[in-house]
Amino acid sequence: MNVAVVTVGDELLAGRTTDTNATWLCERLADRGVGVERVTTVPDRIGDIARVVNEYRAEYDAVIVTGGLGPTHDDLTMEGVAAALGRSVEEHDAALAWLEENGYARADLASGTTELPAGARALHNEAGVAPGAVLEGVYVLPGVPEEMKAMFETIADEFSGTPTYRETVVADEPESALLDRIADVRERFDITVGSYPGESVRLELTGTNEETVEEAAAWLRERVESPDGES
Ligand code: AMP
Ligand code: MG
Repeated sequence: MNVAVVTVGDELLAGRTTDTNATWLCERLADRGVGVERVTTVPDRIGDIARVVNEYRAEYDAVIVTGGLGPTHDDLTMEGVAAALGRSVEEHDAALAWLEENGYARADLASGTTELPAGARALHNEAGVAPGAVLEGVYVLPGVPEEMKAMFETIADEFSGTPTYRETVVADEPESALLDRIADVRERFDITVGSYPGESVRLELTGTNEETVEEAAAWLRERVESPDGES
C-alpha cells in the first residue's frame, strides 16, 4: 500500500510551526509496512488543497490530510477535500450525535463544526472537538498533534503493507570512502541502502527479509571503521 500525506497550514509554510504531524505519520506508516510516496504542505486555500488531494488520490491507495479543521475562517480543509471529490459540505448527523453524547450541547458548538463532505464517514475526535472524515480513500485528520494521533490510532488498521526490516551500521569514514563497500553490500544482498552523513555516516539497510538484512549488516559492520572502536 502506498500513500501520500498532505499537511495544511500557512504557519507550516512560514516556518512558524514544525511539521511534526508528517514525521509522526511517516514513522507510523513505515512501521506498518506502508510506503509514503509524497509529503506535501499546502496553504490554507481551498483550491490548493483540492488540487493536491485530487492528484494524489488518483495516484496512491490513500491520502492522509491533516490540519485546517474547525470553525475558524482559515479552516478550509473539509471544503478543499469536498471540492476535490465534487461533493458539497453538509451537516453530518452521526458526528453531531456523537458530540452530543459526549457532553457537547448542540447550541455550544461553533457553526460548521460538524460539517463534512457529503457521504463521508465521520471520525470521532477523542482528544478534541472537530471530527475527521474519510471518503474515497481520503482521510482528513485534525492538525493538533494529540488529536491527530488519537484519531489515527482509530484507523491505523486500515493501513497495511509489506513489513520491512532495518539495521543501522555507523561508519567513521568519509561518505566518499565508503562507496565501494556500499556497492558491494547492495550487490550481495537483496536490500536497499540509505547513506546519511553527519559526524559519522549512518548506513541504513532495509529489506523485506529479516535474516538477509541482519546478514548484510553484519557483513558491512566487519568492513567499515566503527566510531570509538564500537562494533
Ligand atoms: P489547525 O488544525 O490547522 O487549526 O491547527 C491546529 C493546531 O495544530 C495549530 O496550533 C497548529 O500549529 C498545529 N498543527 C497543525 N498542523 C500541524 C502539523 N502538520 N504539525 C504540527 N502541528 C500542527
Ligand atoms: Mg490551521
